[in-house]
Amino acid sequence: MSEHFFWWTDEQKAIYKDVRQFVEENYEEAEEYFWNTKFPWPLVKKVAEKGYFGVGVPKEFGGLELGATGSCIVAAQLGRLYAVGHVFTVSMLAGLEQILRFGTDEQKQAWLPKIASGEELGALCITEPFAGSDAANVFTSAIKEGDDWVLNGKKRFITGAGVSDRYFIYAKTSDDKALRKQYGHITAFMVEKGRPGFSLEKINPLIGFDNVPNGYIDFDHVRIPDSNRIGAVGNGWNVMMAGLNFERLIGAAVFSGQFEDIINLLFHFTKRRVQFNRTTNQFPGVQDGIAEIITKAKVSRLYSYHCAKLLDDGKEPMVEASIAKMINTEYARDIGLKAIQILGGDGLTKFLPAERLLREAKIGEIVAGTNEVQKMIIYRFSAMLPIYNKTMRFRWNDNVNAPIISKKESKFKGLSITDENILKVIAHDYKINPGLYMTPDDVREDIGGSRSDLRKILEELETQGLIVTHRDRAGKIVLVKATYIGLQKAFPKVYYQWFPDWYDNADKF
Ligand SMILES: Cc1cc2nc3c(=O)[nH]c(=O)nc-3n(C[C@H](O)[C@H](O)[C@H](O)COP(=O)(O)OP(=O)(O)OC[C@H]3O[C@@H](n4cnc5c(N)ncnc54)[C@H](O)[C@@H]3O)c2cc1C
Repeated sequence: MSEHFFWWTDEQKAIYKDVRQFVEENYEEAEEYFWNTKFPWPLVKKVAEKGYFGVGVPKEFGGLELGATGSCIVAAQLGRLYAVGHVFTVSMLAGLEQILRFGTDEQKQAWLPKIASGEELGALCITEPFAGSDAANVFTSAIKEGDDWVLNGKKRFITGAGVSDRYFIYAKTSDDKALRKQYGHITAFMVEKGRPGFSLEKINPLIGFDNVPNGYIDFDHVRIPDSNRIGAVGNGWNVMMAGLNFERLIGAAVFSGQFEDIINLLFHFTKRRVQFNRTTNQFPGVQDGIAEIITKAKVSRLYSYHCAKLLDDGKEPMVEASIAKMINTEYARDIGLKAIQILGGDGLTKFLPAERLLREAKIGEIVAGTNEVQKMIIYRFSAMLPIYNKTMRFRWNDNVNAPIISKKESKFKGLSITDENILKVIAHDYKINPGLYMTPDDVREDIGGSRSDLRKILEELETQGLIVTHRDRAGKIVLVKATYIGLQKAFPKVYYQWFPDWYDNADKF
């Protein structure tokens, strides 16, 4: 796991070496905080002194300017220090991308050096009691009063609640239904700890994220100046989305550093554990399990840095960030489970870090957009990609007497646009794709003609019971297929028959 990727810059390679060494030197201290259930302030200060909080911040604002790749490198390594990794990650996510893209020059000068120095921690506040996966459903409101905004509401599940000084929040600035439909009802703000009316409501007792405070915060007529508004009024959704790819990637990468420690532990442990007079690493099942873990660790790491490179190249890798988030957290869960199995009963104790990975992974599958939401994104955005929407037509090939994907013209092309010929096109498609409907555009591609002529003919054929149509909500025909009567009318039965060569004629009827 210690290899560089060939596309890393010398600076990225250098920080990788540096942060690995830092983690090795501080691993024991992090364990002590874990056991004492204490927030690791001294360790967080050391991270700040090393300048790691500024890994993604441009140099002009006091950062290291190592981009998403550098941020991934640091997040993955600091993730090995548990609480420190999560705090580091969320502090960076609480404004870095959002201010870089949407902040004014003054806001960049005011906030980015603070993010870079790590002198104060940040928290990202999207989730509310009634707004989880449906993040646009915020109830926390911001109302303009003179030059100020007055905030009322609550946020929950906030990582770093209480210990953070900066809270990057999204609030509702309009109740207009039309604006709501266009996601124009949300605005982003930065709120500092200490503002009157801003308080901590609850700290959650969680399954994992040990010694990272996570909780509810409350805004009771909290007054902030307009200069704390990040981006235009009503542009909060875009501000949120702009930060999300980075958030998903970095939030995922924070798990992958732990995989290396688990693999080390498994090799160490199974060389020393003897059952049935053999060390357990000699059992094929144990070897398979470790091989599976190594594979998943390498795949998730490779994919994360691929996604980071896309971000660094200025792309918007929506699908890739969701995939990175999903596979890192699912693999973390699988690796945790498998590692425990290999370790046996010891794996179930807190004395070994395998159970910790499993608990963290379960959280990972829910935070930063649940994995179901990631799958929704992967599906929806991929469905719009030209690469997955190439025209694909199966045509009957007489040479092989089978339907094959073909770019050739349909044999019906150029025929006159009549009821009879349109029915033939649709019935012929049954011979090729017996279970599929055709789109009207498929029919037009095969025979030609205008959309309006085709629509009239399709409606007529439907009235005669020769085809069946499938319509959208507006009543527009979107799919068509021939009925059994339509098939009979278009071609003789033999037209649709097909038998393999080996099939005995005597058995045909
Ligand atoms: C430890 C921890 C740390 C967190 N840190 C932060 C933080 O720092 N800042 C912050 O703002 N938030 C944070 N969160 C909140 C987190 O992002 C949300 O918990 C998450 O987005 C899911 O929202 P929810 O818990 O309300 O679940 P819900 O949205 O209620 O989802 C419940 C179930 O319904 C499914 N579901 C919902 N909608 C759909 C859909 N359209 N299609 C299919 N399935 C769907 C979900 O996948 C899930 O299985 C944190 C949460 C945890 C547990």
